Amino acid sequence: MERKHKLRGAFYLRLSKDDDNQKESSSISNQRKLLQDYAEKAGFDIVAEFCDDGVSGTTFDRPGFNQLIQAVENGLINLILVKDLSRLGRDYIQTGQYTEVYFPAKNVRFIAVNDEVDSDQPLNDLAPFRNVVNEMVARDTSRKIRSSFQTKMREGAFIGNFAPYGYQKDKHDKNHLVIDPNTAPIVHRIFEMAAFGCSSANIAKSLNEQKISSPAVYRCQKYPHLKLANYTQKKAWSASTIRKILKNPVYRGHSAQGKSVKSSFKNRHVSALPMQEWIIVENTHEAVVEQELFDLANEGAKQRQCVKKDSFVNSFSKIAVCADCHHGMSTIGSMPHVILACGSYKSHGKSICSNHFIDYNDLMQCTREVLKRYALLDEAEKQEVFAEIKEELSPSKHENERIDELNHILDTLYLDYYAGTLSAQRFEQLKEHYEAEKSQLDSLRQTVDDTVDFEKIYRDIIRFDELSPQLLSAFFESIEISQGSDENHEKQQQIVFHPRFKIKP
Ligand SMILES: [Zn+2]
Repeated sequence: MERKHKLRGAFYLRLSKDDDNQKESSSISNQRKLLQDYAEKAGFDIVAEFCDDGVSGTTFDRPGFNQLIQAVENGLINLILVKDLSRLGRDYIQTGQYTEVYFPAKNVRFIAVNDEVDSDQPLNDLAPFRNVVNEMVARDTSRKIRSSFQTKMREGAFIGNFAPYGYQKDKHDKNHLVIDPNTAPIVHRIFEMAAFGCSSANIAKSLNEQKISSPAVYRCQKYPHLKLANYTQKKAWSASTIRKILKNPVYRGHSAQGKSVKSSFKNRHVSALPMQEWIIVENTHEAVVEQELFDLANEGAKQRQCVKKDSFVNSFSKIAVCADCHHGMSTIGSMPHVILACGSYKSHGKSICSNHFIDYNDLMQCTREVLKRYALLDEAEKQEVFAEIKEELSPSKHENERIDELNHILDTLYLDYYAGTLSAQRFEQLKEHYEAEKSQLDSLRQTVDDTVDFEKIYRDIIRFDELSPQLLSAFFESIEISQGSDENHEKQQQIVFHPRFKIKP
C-alpha cells in the first residue's frame, strides 16, 4: 500500500485499422474509461496519457508509444496501464521484450487490465502465451484485409493510391482509370522508341535529356503534399522505370494489380510477384498503345542482341569502376581516342560525382603491366589460375554480360535510325550482323568447355594479344579509377586493381 503513493501512472491507448471488428469496445474513449475506472479503484495517481490512434500494433514505431518510452526514460512515470496486452503490440517477441525485460529493468510496473497481467503480481506465466495469440490475430486480420483487396482487384477495380503514369483516376469513379493527356503521349513515345529497338537505358537517357519529368517527379508536381525528397532514387528516368512501363499491361487497357506482396504482416518489406501471378482483368479502361505497338516494343527489347563485328568493345565494361562513387566507367568517343569516364558523372554531372576519367589505351597499358606478373607463376599456381579462369569463362556466366555489351554498341545505331540519320539499307545490314552474332554466341557456348586450351590462353595473356572483357573479368573483380590530379603538368592518377586471386609481387 505504501508503494502506491509513489507510483506515477500513465495510460497507453491504441486503436488501429486491424481493430475494426471489435468496434466500440476498442475505441479510444472506451479504453480510457476502462483504465480510469481501474486506476480509481486501485487508487493510482495518473499523471500522463499516451495515445496512438490509427496505428497498427504490428510496428513499435508509433509516436505515442515513443513518447511513453521517453517518459519512462526521463523517470516521469513508473506505472503503465493498458486495456490488454495487444494494445502494447501484436508482435510477441517485441512485446515480451518490453514486459519481461525493459519495464522490469526500469522498475516500471505494467498492468494489462483485461488480461489480468500485473507485473507486481506473480501470475505472469500466461503473458507470453497471450502475446503469441495477439500475433496470430494480427496475422489473420492482415490476411483478411489483403483478401478483400484481392476481391476488388479481381473485379478490375483500380485500388492503388495513385494512377499509373499515363493515367489519372476518373473524377466520377476513383476505381476507374482515364487517360492523362499530359503523360499518355510520353508513354506512347516510349513504346515507339522501344519498338525501334532503343534500349531502356537509352530511352531513359533521351527523356532525361529532354527534361521530361520522371513519373515520381510528375506525381509530386501533381500532388504537392508529396515530398520529392522521398523519391531521391527516382528523380530521373531510369532503365528499370522504362522496362516496367514496357511490360505493364495497363497500357493495353487491362488492369494489372497484385504485382507485389508484403513478405510479412509485421513489416513494410514488399516483394515483387512474377507476372504470371498478377491479377489481370482485360479491357477495364482505355488503352494508351495498340496491341501491335505493345508487341513490337516488347519484341524490340529482346531483339537488341546484334552487333557490328568490327565495333569497338570495351574490355573494361563491368570491371572498371569510379573509385569514389563505384559506378561503372562508361566510354566516351571512338577508337583510337576512347576515354573511360565515371558513369554517374556522365549521366548526372557534378551533383553526383566528379569528372573521373582515364584514357582507354593508358588503362590497357597499365593492365598489361599488372598482368605481366602472371608470367612468373609456377606450375601449381598456374593450374589454380586456370581453374579460376575456366569458371569465369563459362558462357552461362558471361553470355549475358556479353550481350549487354553488344547491346550498348547497337543502341547507338538504333537511335541513329530512329532519328533518321541511319538509312533503311544500313538498318538491314545490321540485321544481318545480328544473325551472324547470334550464331557466334551459340558456337561460343560449344567451344568453352573442357577442351579449351588454357596454355594458349595463358600465352595470349602473356603476349597480350587480346584482352577481352571475359579475360579481364576472369582476372579482376574490379579496377578502381580515382580522380586524376595535375602535378608539374603531368597527370597523376591512382588505379587500384582488385585481382580475383593473389598475384606474386
Ligand atoms: Zn564517380
